[in-house]
Amino acid sequence: MLCGLLGKTLGHSYSPQIHGYLGNYSYALFEKNEEELSDFLLNGDFSGLNVTIPYKKSVIPCCTALTEQALRLGAVNTIVKREDGALIGHNTDYYGFQFMLKRSGLNVNGKKALVLGSGGAAATVMAVLREQGANAVMISRTGPNNYQNLSLHCNAAVIVNATPVGMYPNVGISPLELDHFPALEGVLDLIYNPARTKLLLDAEERGLIAMNGLWMLVAQAKESAEWFLGNKIDDSLIATVHHHINKQMENTVLIGMPGCGKSTVGRLVAEMTGRQFVDADALIEEKAGKVIPEIFRDDGEEAFRVLEMQVLSEIGAKSGLVIATGGGCVTKQINYHLLHQNGTIFWLKRDVEKLPRDGRPLSMNTSLMEMYRKREPLYLNFADYIINNESAPEDAAAQICKLEE
Ligand code: NAP
Repeated sequence: MLCGLLGKTLGHSYSPQIHGYLGNYSYALFEKNEEELSDFLLNGDFSGLNVTIPYKKSVIPCCTALTEQALRLGAVNTIVKREDGALIGHNTDYYGFQFMLKRSGLNVNGKKALVLGSGGAAATVMAVLREQGANAVMISRTGPNNYQNLSLHCNAAVIVNATPVGMYPNVGISPLELDHFPALEGVLDLIYNPARTKLLLDAEERGLIAMNGLWMLVAQAKESAEWFLGNKIDDSLIATVHHHINKQMENTVLIGMPGCGKSTVGRLVAEMTGRQFVDADALIEEKAGKVIPEIFRDDGEEAFRVLEMQVLSEIGAKSGLVIATGGGCVTKQINYHLLHQNGTIFWLKRDVEKLPRDGRPLSMNTSLMEMYRKREPLYLNFADYIINNESAPEDAAAQICKLEE
């Protein structure tokens, strides 16, 4: 049985892997332009399809029949070819978002929920929210409710981002400022790359519920797989698949004092998990064309921090890396967003007395203990976990791998 994803430009997609966990069928990527679309649908070799941007509406005329859900939403994201060749159009995004909302723990009944965007995904989200009793309002750049009159909705309890704003590679931007919404309980973002968009990082910082769209992606895929296979799949598989994909997307980020063992432990974690190791300081030296003591001597610390921020913004937006950072990266708060957008941050702690002092620029004129006192609260602020690296680096690496299991 051959199934696959139909879209215009697919780039890197997690769908083949997700479907690999869901059922025993082949799963291919079908990149087609508009002119090829109807010929592919009517004569192509497939048993089932997922449909993505920009074809969720344009496949409808080629479908023999639509389910009630697909008809109601005017969008098809799954097509099943029956034995007689008939193409049945389904919408499994509805179930996907329903699952995501439930998983978030947010209760929207009787509350105002803002849905950002007016595309296909926004229409699905609006329908689910209304079904759950929310007073759902669509915010569109060109609609009656827009980004200029958000003050009309300052009582919103939930915000759902159904726009591509903040999605890789255009990370670090947010469709709106959360300060306008004092009654906010949670933010859901349909984007899952990066794992934490600027909007979700802002929500996390305010202690709100914050969830990305990976749950929706996996849940809609599970319902699609049920249609492809013609049998039910237990809901518990959604969490298992989510865990595998999430683990693969997340970076492991090591912070800590100069010489605390970040590179050694990072290399070990990369070896143990089969991932790529990246040393931020080595990339900075490559960019500058000189070693770090020379950057400090010739250009000063501020120039070094600018270079560091550039490097962290490049590697922090990638997925599945093990990243060793420079000891002072925590002195710039912006680096927290850059590293945490896709990363779990581990503070590698080592007794200051045991840290090496040779060839390290700041240790030349500031005592390490003084540096540690200044940085300790910053490391604490950045860290998701604290790892002791007092004994063998293998032990620290094993602790990290265990926490990431
Ligand atoms: P779409 O049809 O292209 O709609 C996106 C909407 O976002 C547009 O209608 C537009 O609304 C708004 N928008 C676009 N660019 C914007 C900008 N620069 N600033 C502010 N608003 C902008 O896309 P879609 O299919 O609905 O998907 C929307 C997002 O959800 C995408 O990021 C997609 O990857 C994601 N998605 C995720 C899942 C999942 O399973 N996790 C499923 C479906 C979609 P206005 O012009 O009205 O402002």
